[in-house]
Amino acid sequence: MKTVPFTKEQLEKIAEKFPTPFYLYDEKGIRENADAVRKAFAWNPGFREYFAVKATPNPFLIEILREYGCGTDCSSITELMLSKALDIPGEEIMFSSNDTPAEEFAYADSIGAIINLDDYTHIQYLEDTIGHLPKTLSLRFNPGGFYSLSNGIMDNPGDSKYGLTEEQLLKAYKLLKKKGVERFGLHAFLVSNTVGNDYYPTLAKTLFELAVKIKEETGVSLDFINLSGGVGIPYKPDEHAANIAVIGEGVRKVYEKVLVPAGLGNVSIYTEMGRFMMGPYGYLVTRAIHEKHIYKEYIGVDACAVNLMRPAMYGAYHHITVMGKEKKRKDHVYDVVGSLCENNDKFAVDRELPRIEMGDLLAIHDAGAHGFAMGYNYNGKLKCCELLLQEDGEPKLIRRAERPEDYFATFDDFDVFKKIPFEEARNILK
Ligand SMILES: *Cc1c(COP(=O)(O)O)cnc(C)c1O
Repeated sequence: MKTVPFTKEQLEKIAEKFPTPFYLYDEKGIRENADAVRKAFAWNPGFREYFAVKATPNPFLIEILREYGCGTDCSSITELMLSKALDIPGEEIMFSSNDTPAEEFAYADSIGAIINLDDYTHIQYLEDTIGHLPKTLSLRFNPGGFYSLSNGIMDNPGDSKYGLTEEQLLKAYKLLKKKGVERFGLHAFLVSNTVGNDYYPTLAKTLFELAVKIKEETGVSLDFINLSGGVGIPYKPDEHAANIAVIGEGVRKVYEKVLVPAGLGNVSIYTEMGRFMMGPYGYLVTRAIHEKHIYKEYIGVDACAVNLMRPAMYGAYHHITVMGKEKKRKDHVYDVVGSLCENNDKFAVDRELPRIEMGDLLAIHDAGAHGFAMGYNYNGKLKCCELLLQEDGEPKLIRRAERPEDYFATFDDFDVFKKIPFEEARNILK
């Protein structure tokens, strides 16, 4: 059973001040989970979770995670700039990018971020760009082929664009050592959104054994091993949440078995989780504004794929709670749709829900990661605001909604900008 940490009355009150649609993040949930992550890996003194900024690039949410020791994992210059603005020290910023432009490497180096290279050729590219190599460097591994977990879940790294082959890795560490690099990292991200507790311990075994081989063949003792992201969340009501304590303990066992006997008992474990840190704690709240009966039953809401793209892009399931009707029988079957001129703009297809009346509030679950962030402006739609549901139950605005001025901002050097009727549009419903 999936539940929400707020009531219909609470949401109606919030909606008086912040009209729907809006994102609502549950501060209590974020804090409890971040604390559980920290405890799960407390056995490793150097442990750090570098929160994948791309999942939820909101400074207020990142500041909460900072209280639990989290750094940031960045994939672009703007994410690095945000980390810098939050005064995050360089060693607490990871730059795990790929196909990286020169200026982004240069900026990452200038703020002292740890650079995680995605290819052998990037060693030379980085050196040519900044004129030296940083003292600390990490490399991303791609084992190729298929990678499977004991529960049958698998992915196909052989078909993914990321990382170095094992042969390239060994060559790269030798080269880095020769060029004076002093601290070394190893990173891999092999399966996304894994359910169950298997993924990190399995990946840890792969990377720890590789670390031993790297030591034997190149003389390089790794300083950190980065398990990256990929720990999943239960989007569907019949799925179970991963247990981070069990996962941490699973990684510890492999660490004791593989790294410690090889004299690598000082390796720090890093993670770069995005989805697991924030996904379950963000809701897209939207209101039913139209119902339509043609060949199917449709409920039109005031949010659309611009606010949450995962259903349209991946056919992803996002649970929906019709507020105030949590206990009602699910005796209707609806497509819940947004307003884009795109037939994939559907938050739910053939979903069993209680009877929805116009004006009902719907909470779309598990939108806290890769939700707002993936938003775009197709059809000229504007992005909504983000609110933090604080522990005292009060909402705090942590990003305002976009205005037409934002949408047209890239024309502000052009004459047409002066003729856009911002004022008239603003007053139309007053
Ligand atoms: C996307 C990404 C993450 C976060 O992945 P989640 O599935 O959200 O945990 C971490 N590291 C890198 C390099 C990524 O690209």
